[in-house]
Amino acid sequence: MKIFDEIESEVQSYARSFPRVFNKAQGEYLYDEDGNQYLDFLAGAGTLNYGHNNPVFKEKLLDYIHSDGITHGLDLHTKAKGEFLETFNEKILKPRGLDYMIQFTGPTGTNAVEAALKLARNVTGRENIIAFTNGFHGVSLGALAATGNSHHRGAAGVSLSGTSRMPYDGYLGDDIDTTAYLDKVLSDSSSGIDKPAAVIVETVQGEGGINVASFDWLKNLQAVCRQHDVLLIVDDIQAGCGRTGNYFSFEEAGIYPDMVTMSKSLAGYGLPFAVVMFKPKLDQWKPGEHNGTFRGNNFAFVTAKAAIDHYWSDDTFSKEVKRKGDYIATRLASIIDRFGEGNFTSRGRGMFQGISCVNGDLAGKITHNAFQQGLIIETSGADDQVVKFLCPLITSDENLKKGLDIVEQAIKEVCAKEDSIPEEFDYFEVEQKAG
Ligand SMILES: *Cc1c(COP(=O)(O)O)cnc(C)c1O
Repeated sequence: MKIFDEIESEVQSYARSFPRVFNKAQGEYLYDEDGNQYLDFLAGAGTLNYGHNNPVFKEKLLDYIHSDGITHGLDLHTKAKGEFLETFNEKILKPRGLDYMIQFTGPTGTNAVEAALKLARNVTGRENIIAFTNGFHGVSLGALAATGNSHHRGAAGVSLSGTSRMPYDGYLGDDIDTTAYLDKVLSDSSSGIDKPAAVIVETVQGEGGINVASFDWLKNLQAVCRQHDVLLIVDDIQAGCGRTGNYFSFEEAGIYPDMVTMSKSLAGYGLPFAVVMFKPKLDQWKPGEHNGTFRGNNFAFVTAKAAIDHYWSDDTFSKEVKRKGDYIATRLASIIDRFGEGNFTSRGRGMFQGISCVNGDLAGKITHNAFQQGLIIETSGADDQVVKFLCPLITSDENLKKGLDIVEQAIKEVCAKEDSIPEEFDYFEVEQKAG
Protein backbone atom coordinates (compact mmCIF):
# COMPACT_ATOMS: atom_id res chain seq x y z
CA MET A 1 0.00 0.00 0.00
CA LYS A 2 1.49 3.30 -1.11
CA ILE A 3 -0.04 5.37 1.68
CA PHE A 4 2.55 4.10 4.17
CA ASP A 5 5.37 5.44 1.98
CA GLU A 6 3.52 8.64 1.32
CA ILE A 7 2.62 9.86 4.79
CA GLU A 8 3.80 7.51 7.50
CA SER A 9 7.03 8.71 9.08
CA GLU A 10 10.40 7.16 8.33
CA VAL A 11 10.57 6.23 12.01
CA GLN A 12 8.82 2.93 11.19
CA SER A 13 10.88 -0.06 12.27
CA TYR A 14 9.15 -3.47 12.46
CA ALA A 15 7.15 -2.58 9.33
CA ARG A 16 10.41 -2.56 7.40
CA SER A 17 11.22 -6.13 8.33
CA PHE A 18 7.73 -7.40 7.53
CA PRO A 19 6.45 -5.29 4.63
CA ARG A 20 2.92 -6.61 4.35
CA VAL A 21 -0.45 -5.15 5.30
CA PHE A 22 -1.85 -7.24 8.15
CA ASN A 23 -5.53 -7.29 8.87
CA LYS A 24 -6.37 -10.30 11.01
CA ALA A 25 -4.86 -12.22 13.90
CA GLN A 26 -5.75 -15.13 16.11
CA GLY A 27 -3.66 -16.99 18.69
CA GLU A 28 -0.14 -17.41 17.32
CA TYR A 29 -1.18 -16.47 13.78
CA LEU A 30 -1.15 -13.21 11.84
CA TYR A 31 -2.79 -12.83 8.41
CA ASP A 32 -2.08 -10.29 5.70
CA GLU A 33 -4.68 -8.79 3.42
CA ASP A 34 -3.93 -11.37 0.73
CA GLY A 35 -4.89 -14.08 3.17
CA ASN A 36 -1.34 -15.31 3.79
CA GLN A 37 -0.85 -16.86 7.21
CA TYR A 38 2.21 -16.18 9.37
CA LEU A 39 3.34 -17.75 12.60
CA ASP A 40 4.00 -14.82 14.94
CA PHE A 41 7.16 -15.33 17.01
CA LEU A 42 7.49 -11.59 17.61
CA ALA A 43 4.11 -11.29 19.32
CA GLY A 44 4.12 -7.55 19.86
CA ALA A 45 7.68 -7.67 21.23
CA GLY A 46 6.41 -9.59 24.25
CA THR A 47 2.98 -7.95 24.50
CA LEU A 48 0.97 -10.94 23.29
CA ASN A 49 2.06 -13.67 25.72
CA TYR A 50 -1.50 -15.05 25.64
CA GLY A 51 -1.78 -14.78 21.84
CA HIS A 52 -3.69 -12.48 19.53
CA ASN A 53 -7.36 -11.85 20.35
CA ASN A 54 -7.42 -14.46 23.09
CA PRO A 55 -11.04 -15.72 22.93
CA VAL A 56 -11.46 -15.84 26.72
CA PHE A 57 -10.49 -12.19 27.15
CA LYS A 58 -12.37 -11.12 24.02
CA GLU A 59 -15.61 -12.47 25.48
CA LYS A 60 -15.12 -10.51 28.73
CA LEU A 61 -14.17 -7.36 26.87
CA LEU A 62 -17.17 -7.55 24.53
CA ASP A 63 -19.52 -8.09 27.48
CA TYR A 64 -18.00 -5.08 29.20
CA ILE A 65 -18.36 -2.86 26.13
CA HIS A 66 -21.94 -4.05 25.51
CA SER A 67 -22.88 -3.17 29.09
CA ASP A 68 -21.54 0.40 28.65
CA GLY A 69 -18.80 -0.23 31.20
CA ILE A 70 -16.54 2.79 31.81
CA THR A 71 -14.02 3.26 29.00
CA HIS A 72 -12.17 6.30 30.29
CA GLY A 73 -12.22 7.41 33.88
CA LEU A 74 -9.00 9.32 34.61
CA ASP A 75 -8.04 7.80 37.96
CA LEU A 76 -11.59 7.50 39.26
CA HIS A 77 -12.44 4.35 41.18
CA THR A 78 -14.21 2.06 38.72
CA LYS A 79 -15.63 -1.40 39.24
CA ALA A 80 -13.26 -2.77 36.61
CA LYS A 81 -10.25 -1.24 38.35
CA GLY A 82 -11.35 -2.53 41.76
CA GLU A 83 -11.80 -6.04 40.41
CA PHE A 84 -8.41 -5.99 38.72
CA LEU A 85 -6.72 -4.83 41.94
CA GLU A 86 -8.48 -7.50 43.99
CA THR A 87 -7.56 -10.26 41.58
CA PHE A 88 -3.97 -9.09 41.20
CA ASN A 89 -3.57 -8.89 44.97
CA GLU A 90 -5.21 -12.26 45.73
CA LYS A 91 -3.77 -14.36 42.91
CA ILE A 92 -0.43 -12.73 42.09
CA LEU A 93 0.94 -10.74 45.03
CA LYS A 94 -0.30 -12.58 48.15
CA PRO A 95 0.62 -16.13 47.11
CA ARG A 96 4.15 -14.87 46.44
CA GLY A 97 4.41 -13.03 49.75
CA LEU A 98 4.76 -9.68 47.98
CA ASP A 99 3.40 -6.54 49.60
CA TYR A 100 3.25 -3.74 47.04
CA MET A 101 1.29 -0.55 46.42
CA ILE A 102 0.24 -0.19 42.80
CA GLN A 103 0.46 3.03 40.82
CA PHE A 104 -1.29 3.32 37.47
CA THR A 105 0.90 5.37 35.19
CA GLY A 106 0.42 6.44 31.59
CA PRO A 107 -0.21 3.45 29.36
CA THR A 108 3.23 2.51 28.01
CA GLY A 109 6.26 0.89 29.58
CA THR A 110 8.37 3.99 29.51
CA ASN A 111 5.68 5.82 31.55
CA ALA A 112 6.03 3.22 34.32
CA VAL A 113 9.82 3.56 34.27
CA GLU A 114 9.62 7.37 34.48
CA ALA A 115 7.32 7.10 37.50
CA ALA A 116 9.64 4.60 39.21
CA LEU A 117 12.74 6.76 38.70
CA LYS A 118 10.95 9.91 39.82
CA LEU A 119 9.61 8.29 42.97
CA ALA A 120 13.00 6.75 43.80
CA ARG A 121 14.65 10.16 43.46
CA ASN A 122 11.97 11.89 45.54
CA VAL A 123 12.03 9.34 48.33
CA THR A 124 15.82 9.21 48.68
CA GLY A 125 16.61 12.82 47.80
CA ARG A 126 19.34 11.54 45.48
CA GLU A 127 19.57 12.01 41.73
CA ASN A 128 21.83 9.28 40.39
CA ILE A 129 20.37 6.03 39.04
CA ILE A 130 22.56 3.00 38.30
CA ALA A 131 21.64 1.28 35.03
CA PHE A 132 23.39 -1.53 33.21
CA THR A 133 25.22 -2.06 29.95
CA ASN A 134 22.77 -3.14 27.22
CA GLY A 135 19.78 -2.26 29.40
CA PHE A 136 16.61 -1.04 27.70
CA HIS A 137 14.01 0.90 29.66
CA GLY A 138 12.14 3.00 27.08
CA VAL A 139 12.76 6.10 24.99
CA SER A 140 11.29 9.05 26.92
CA LEU A 141 14.16 11.12 28.32
CA GLY A 142 14.35 9.76 31.87
CA ALA A 143 14.04 6.14 30.78
CA LEU A 144 16.32 6.77 27.80
CA ALA A 145 19.05 7.97 30.14
CA ALA A 146 18.91 4.50 31.71
CA THR A 147 18.90 2.78 28.29
CA GLY A 148 22.25 1.72 26.83
CA ASN A 149 21.59 1.54 23.09
CA SER A 150 23.45 4.31 21.19
CA HIS A 151 20.96 4.34 18.29
CA HIS A 152 18.17 5.30 20.69
CA ARG A 153 20.33 7.54 22.89
CA GLY A 154 21.60 9.42 19.85
CA ALA A 155 18.12 10.70 19.04
CA ALA A 156 17.65 12.43 22.41
CA GLY A 157 18.94 15.83 21.33
CA VAL A 158 19.77 16.78 24.90
CA SER A 159 22.31 15.36 27.29
CA LEU A 160 21.01 12.29 29.07
CA SER A 161 21.87 12.81 32.69
CA GLY A 162 21.29 11.43 36.13
CA THR A 163 22.47 7.88 35.48
CA SER A 164 25.70 5.89 35.85
CA ARG A 165 26.40 2.77 33.85
CA MET A 166 27.58 -0.49 35.42
CA PRO A 167 28.53 -3.81 33.78
CA TYR A 168 25.66 -6.32 33.62
CA ASP A 169 26.13 -9.96 34.60
CA GLY A 170 28.58 -11.62 32.20
CA TYR A 171 29.70 -8.34 30.63
CA LEU A 172 33.31 -8.90 31.66
CA GLY A 173 33.24 -12.67 31.19
CA ASP A 174 31.64 -15.56 33.01
CA ASP A 175 34.05 -15.59 35.93
CA ILE A 176 33.65 -11.99 37.01
CA ASP A 177 30.85 -11.05 39.40
CA THR A 178 30.21 -7.45 38.40
CA THR A 179 28.22 -6.75 41.57
CA ALA A 180 31.59 -6.78 43.37
CA TYR A 181 32.58 -3.79 41.24
CA LEU A 182 29.30 -2.03 42.07
CA ASP A 183 29.89 -2.73 45.76
CA LYS A 184 33.41 -1.30 45.48
CA VAL A 185 32.42 1.97 43.78
CA LEU A 186 29.56 2.49 46.23
CA SER A 187 31.94 1.91 49.15
CA ASP A 188 34.58 4.31 47.87
CA SER A 189 33.68 7.98 48.39
CA SER A 190 36.22 8.89 45.70
CA SER A 191 34.99 6.43 43.06
CA GLY A 192 33.33 9.28 41.16
CA ILE A 193 29.99 7.51 41.19
CA ASP A 194 27.48 9.57 43.16
CA LYS A 195 25.50 7.61 45.70
CA PRO A 196 22.44 6.52 43.73
CA ALA A 197 18.76 6.63 44.54
CA ALA A 198 18.23 3.28 42.85
CA VAL A 199 19.54 0.53 40.64
CA ILE A 200 17.31 -0.42 37.70
CA VAL A 201 17.76 -3.84 36.12
CA GLU A 202 16.15 -6.39 33.78
CA THR A 203 16.59 -9.99 34.96
CA VAL A 204 16.80 -10.98 31.29
CA GLN A 205 17.67 -8.14 28.94
CA GLY A 206 15.21 -8.24 26.04
CA GLU A 207 16.17 -5.49 23.62
CA GLY A 208 19.78 -5.82 24.77
CA GLY A 209 20.03 -9.30 23.24
CA ILE A 210 18.54 -11.85 25.69
CA ASN A 211 21.32 -11.48 28.24
CA VAL A 212 20.40 -13.56 31.28
CA ALA A 213 21.42 -12.55 34.78
CA SER A 214 22.13 -15.54 37.02
CA PHE A 215 20.08 -15.97 40.18
CA ASP A 216 23.28 -15.60 42.25
CA TRP A 217 24.09 -12.32 40.55
CA LEU A 218 20.58 -11.01 41.22
CA LYS A 219 20.83 -12.05 44.86
CA ASN A 220 24.20 -10.34 45.16
CA LEU A 221 22.80 -7.25 43.47
CA GLN A 222 20.00 -7.10 46.02
CA ALA A 223 22.51 -7.55 48.85
CA VAL A 224 24.70 -4.71 47.56
CA CYS A 225 21.66 -2.45 47.21
CA ARG A 226 20.51 -3.20 50.75
CA GLN A 227 23.96 -2.77 52.20
CA HIS A 228 24.27 0.70 50.64
CA ASP A 229 20.65 1.69 51.26
CA VAL A 230 19.91 1.96 47.54
CA LEU A 231 16.52 0.99 46.06
CA LEU A 232 16.33 -1.99 43.69
CA ILE A 233 13.99 -1.56 40.73
CA VAL A 234 13.28 -4.59 38.53
CA ASP A 235 12.03 -3.59 35.10
CA ASP A 236 9.82 -6.61 34.37
CA ILE A 237 8.09 -5.04 31.39
CA GLN A 238 9.30 -7.67 28.90
CA ALA A 239 10.52 -10.53 31.12
CA GLY A 240 7.44 -10.51 33.36
CA CYS A 241 3.90 -11.88 32.90
CA GLY A 242 5.13 -15.46 32.58
CA ARG A 243 7.73 -15.07 29.84
CA THR A 244 10.50 -16.74 31.86
CA GLY A 245 8.16 -19.38 33.34
CA ASN A 246 6.97 -17.64 36.51
CA TYR A 247 4.66 -14.65 36.71
CA PHE A 248 7.54 -12.39 37.77
CA SER A 249 10.97 -13.02 36.29
CA PHE A 250 12.66 -12.39 39.66
CA GLU A 251 10.67 -15.01 41.63
CA GLU A 252 13.06 -17.88 41.11
CA ALA A 253 16.02 -15.75 42.18
CA GLY A 254 14.26 -15.32 45.53
CA ILE A 255 14.68 -11.55 45.55
CA TYR A 256 12.15 -8.96 46.67
CA PRO A 257 12.68 -5.75 44.67
CA ASP A 258 11.69 -2.41 46.17
CA MET A 259 9.95 -1.46 42.94
CA VAL A 260 8.74 -3.35 39.88
CA THR A 261 7.62 -1.96 36.54
CA MET A 262 5.12 -3.93 34.44
CA SER A 263 3.53 -3.35 31.04
CA LYS A 264 3.63 -5.20 27.68
CA SER A 265 1.65 -8.42 28.42
CA LEU A 266 0.03 -7.12 31.61
CA ALA A 267 -3.29 -6.35 29.89
CA GLY A 268 -3.05 -9.65 28.07
CA TYR A 269 -4.97 -8.54 25.02
CA GLY A 270 -2.39 -6.18 23.55
CA LEU A 271 -4.08 -3.20 25.17
CA PRO A 272 -1.84 -0.39 26.46
CA PHE A 273 -1.44 -0.66 30.22
CA ALA A 274 1.41 -0.05 32.65
CA VAL A 275 1.96 0.00 36.38
CA VAL A 276 4.75 0.56 38.84
CA MET A 277 4.58 -1.30 42.13
CA PHE A 278 6.54 -0.40 45.24
CA LYS A 279 6.86 -1.34 48.87
CA PRO A 280 4.30 0.58 50.97
CA LYS A 281 6.87 2.70 52.84
CA LEU A 282 7.96 4.17 49.47
CA ASP A 283 4.48 5.47 48.68
CA GLN A 284 5.39 9.06 49.44
CA TRP A 285 3.58 10.70 46.52
CA LYS A 286 1.42 13.70 47.28
CA PRO A 287 -2.02 13.52 45.65
CA GLY A 288 -1.81 14.26 41.92
CA GLU A 289 1.93 14.94 42.03
CA HIS A 290 2.48 12.57 39.11
CA ASN A 291 -0.53 12.37 36.84
CA GLY A 292 -1.66 11.63 33.28
CA THR A 293 -4.92 11.50 31.33
CA PHE A 294 -4.70 7.83 30.46
CA ARG A 295 -3.76 6.33 33.81
CA GLY A 296 -5.21 2.90 33.93
CA ASN A 297 -7.07 1.66 30.87
CA ASN A 298 -10.43 0.24 31.91
CA PHE A 299 -10.57 -2.17 28.96
CA ALA A 300 -7.16 -3.37 30.06
CA PHE A 301 -8.39 -3.85 33.64
CA VAL A 302 -11.00 -6.25 32.26
CA THR A 303 -8.60 -8.28 30.11
CA ALA A 304 -5.78 -8.20 32.68
CA LYS A 305 -8.13 -9.65 35.29
CA ALA A 306 -9.29 -12.29 32.81
CA ALA A 307 -5.66 -13.21 32.07
CA ILE A 308 -4.88 -13.71 35.75
CA ASP A 309 -8.09 -15.66 36.43
CA HIS A 310 -7.60 -17.90 33.43
CA TYR A 311 -3.85 -18.54 33.47
CA TRP A 312 -2.57 -17.78 36.96
CA SER A 313 -5.12 -19.27 39.36
CA ASP A 314 -2.81 -22.29 39.76
CA ASP A 315 0.62 -23.34 38.47
CA THR A 316 -0.54 -25.33 35.41
CA PHE A 317 0.29 -22.56 32.97
CA SER A 318 3.64 -21.83 34.59
CA LYS A 319 4.60 -25.51 34.23
CA GLU A 320 3.54 -25.46 30.59
CA VAL A 321 5.71 -22.42 29.87
CA LYS A 322 8.69 -24.12 31.52
CA ARG A 323 8.09 -27.32 29.57
CA LYS A 324 7.90 -25.41 26.28
CA GLY A 325 10.93 -23.35 27.31
CA ASP A 326 12.89 -26.57 27.83
CA TYR A 327 11.83 -27.74 24.38
CA ILE A 328 13.01 -24.47 22.80
CA ALA A 329 16.33 -24.71 24.67
CA THR A 330 16.83 -28.30 23.50
CA ARG A 331 16.09 -27.39 19.90
CA LEU A 332 18.38 -24.35 20.00
CA ALA A 333 21.16 -26.49 21.46
CA SER A 334 20.82 -28.97 18.63
CA ILE A 335 20.78 -26.16 16.04
CA ILE A 336 23.98 -24.78 17.58
CA ASP A 337 25.47 -28.29 17.50
CA ARG A 338 24.64 -28.57 13.83
CA PHE A 339 25.65 -25.13 12.59
CA GLY A 340 27.61 -23.63 15.49
CA GLU A 341 31.24 -23.62 14.40
CA GLY A 342 31.75 -20.30 16.11
CA ASN A 343 28.89 -18.61 14.29
CA PHE A 344 26.07 -19.19 16.76
CA THR A 345 25.39 -19.50 20.50
CA SER A 346 22.09 -19.85 22.33
CA ARG A 347 20.86 -17.96 25.37
CA GLY A 348 17.73 -17.36 27.43
CA ARG A 349 15.38 -18.53 30.17
CA GLY A 350 11.88 -20.02 29.90
CA MET A 351 10.22 -18.92 26.67
CA PHE A 352 12.57 -15.95 26.44
CA GLN A 353 15.32 -17.35 24.25
CA GLY A 354 17.54 -16.43 21.39
CA ILE A 355 20.28 -17.44 19.00
CA SER A 356 23.21 -15.06 18.99
CA CYS A 357 24.90 -14.83 15.59
CA VAL A 358 28.42 -13.59 14.85
CA ASN A 359 26.93 -10.37 13.51
CA GLY A 360 23.68 -8.56 12.81
CA ASP A 361 24.00 -9.16 9.07
CA LEU A 362 23.76 -12.92 9.52
CA ALA A 363 20.87 -12.63 12.00
CA GLY A 364 19.01 -10.33 9.58
CA LYS A 365 19.41 -12.81 6.74
CA ILE A 366 18.04 -15.60 8.93
CA THR A 367 14.96 -13.66 10.05
CA HIS A 368 14.36 -12.54 6.46
CA ASN A 369 14.56 -16.11 5.19
CA ALA A 370 12.22 -17.23 8.01
CA PHE A 371 9.73 -14.56 6.96
CA GLN A 372 9.76 -15.96 3.40
CA GLN A 373 8.76 -19.27 5.00
CA GLY A 374 5.89 -17.68 6.90
CA LEU A 375 7.49 -16.98 10.28
CA ILE A 376 7.61 -13.54 11.86
CA ILE A 377 10.64 -13.31 14.12
CA GLU A 378 12.88 -10.35 14.97
CA THR A 379 16.39 -9.61 16.15
CA SER A 380 17.67 -7.70 19.17
CA GLY A 381 21.02 -6.80 20.71
CA ALA A 382 23.59 -4.02 20.26
CA ASP A 383 24.21 -5.06 16.65
CA ASP A 384 20.79 -6.75 16.11
CA GLN A 385 22.78 -9.97 16.21
CA VAL A 386 20.36 -12.06 18.29
CA VAL A 387 17.42 -13.89 16.69
CA LYS A 388 14.85 -13.44 19.42
CA PHE A 389 12.13 -16.04 20.13
CA LEU A 390 9.16 -14.28 21.72
CA CYS A 391 6.38 -16.59 20.57
CA PRO A 392 3.10 -16.37 22.50
CA LEU A 393 3.26 -18.58 25.61
CA ILE A 394 0.07 -20.31 24.41
CA THR A 395 1.74 -21.45 21.17
CA SER A 396 0.81 -25.09 20.51
CA ASP A 397 3.51 -27.76 20.59
CA GLU A 398 2.93 -28.31 16.89
CA ASN A 399 3.50 -24.66 16.01
CA LEU A 400 6.45 -24.37 18.35
CA LYS A 401 8.06 -27.22 16.43
CA LYS A 402 7.05 -25.65 13.13
CA GLY A 403 8.57 -22.27 14.03
CA LEU A 404 11.82 -23.86 15.18
CA ASP A 405 11.93 -26.04 12.05
CA ILE A 406 11.61 -22.87 9.95
CA VAL A 407 14.45 -21.15 11.79
CA GLU A 408 16.63 -24.25 11.46
CA GLN A 409 15.88 -24.39 7.74
CA ALA A 410 16.56 -20.65 7.41
CA ILE A 411 19.96 -21.05 9.07
CA LYS A 412 20.75 -23.95 6.79
CA GLU A 413 19.85 -22.00 3.65
CA VAL A 414 21.59 -18.81 4.76
CA CYS A 415 24.77 -20.67 5.71
CA ALA A 416 24.73 -22.52 2.37
CA LYS A 417 24.64 -19.37 0.26
CA GLU A 418 26.33 -17.00 2.68
CA ASP A 419 28.82 -15.83 0.04
CA SER A 420 26.24 -15.13 -2.65
CA ILE A 421 24.47 -12.33 -0.77
CA PRO A 422 26.00 -8.86 -1.15
CA GLU A 423 26.81 -7.12 2.13
CA GLU A 424 24.60 -4.10 1.66
CA PHE A 425 21.60 -6.00 0.26
CA ASP A 426 18.51 -4.01 1.24
CA TYR A 427 15.61 -6.36 1.78
CA PHE A 428 13.16 -3.56 2.40
CA GLU A 429 13.90 -1.97 -1.00
CA VAL A 430 13.52 -5.28 -2.78
CA GLU A 431 10.25 -6.07 -1.01
CA GLN A 432 8.89 -2.63 -1.89
CA LYS A 433 9.74 -3.07 -5.54
CA ALA A 434 8.35 -6.59 -5.61
CA GLY A 435 5.16 -5.45 -3.87
C1 LIG B 1 9.52 -2.39 25.93
C2 LIG B 1 10.26 -2.09 27.18
C3 LIG B 1 10.16 -0.85 27.81
C4 LIG B 1 9.42 0.32 27.21
O1 LIG B 1 8.08 0.07 27.01
P1 LIG B 1 7.27 0.96 25.95
O2 LIG B 1 5.86 0.50 26.08
O3 LIG B 1 7.87 0.68 24.62
O4 LIG B 1 7.46 2.38 26.35
C5 LIG B 1 10.82 -0.67 29.02
N1 LIG B 1 11.53 -1.66 29.58
C6 LIG B 1 11.65 -2.87 29.01
C7 LIG B 1 12.42 -3.94 29.69
C8 LIG B 1 11.03 -3.12 27.78
O5 LIG B 1 11.18 -4.31 27.18
